[in-house]
Amino acid sequence: MTVTNPSSETKRVATPGVDLIRAFVNTAELEEGTDHLATVEQARGWLQDRGLIGEDPLAESERLRLVEAREALRTVIAAGSDGRIDPESLAVLDGVGRNGRLTLAFSPDGSADLHPDATGIDRALGQIIVAAYTAMIDESWSRLKICGNHECRWAFHDRSKNHSAKWCSMQSCGNRMKARAYRARQEARS
Ligand SMILES: [Zn+2]
Repeated sequence: MTVTNPSSETKRVATPGVDLIRAFVNTAELEEGTDHLATVEQARGWLQDRGLIGEDPLAESERLRLVEAREALRTVIAAGSDGRIDPESLAVLDGVGRNGRLTLAFSPDGSADLHPDATGIDRALGQIIVAAYTAMIDESWSRLKICGNHECRWAFHDRSKNHSAKWCSMQSCGNRMKARAYRARQEARS
């Protein structure tokens, strides 16, 4: 599946898929308390670095929509890891698709191209949602997880054989969560 490069109406680029989604979700580093989408300048810079938006300034309301979509994606990915489904997040992502005016276009060579027909932030968000959809089709989505440590919530690639990883890293979050569970068991016993 291909998407249209925003810098050119004719040039086509391979969808970055799951890597774009992971990078987008991880613009919030909860443990460090940093957010790469914290200001309109930062948010615009992040989108521009990935060729998702042009030179136009970003409005605060548009930045907030970015953050809303990011957290909706985090929730939907986490639902895959822990089975909880949040209808509000699904509604946010449905809205992103609608506002992006996702369009399926066939080329003379028979290939199909799903791309947002909108402009500005709607186009940028549309491309992000196309990346998520593409990742679902090529199955890389099933390897995308949200760390089970609620103070972390980092999006990570699950490299385990049976898709069973729960923590972004065993050294940091895994051991911490195991120690916490151990303490909770000890307290319940006493
Ligand atoms: Zn973690």
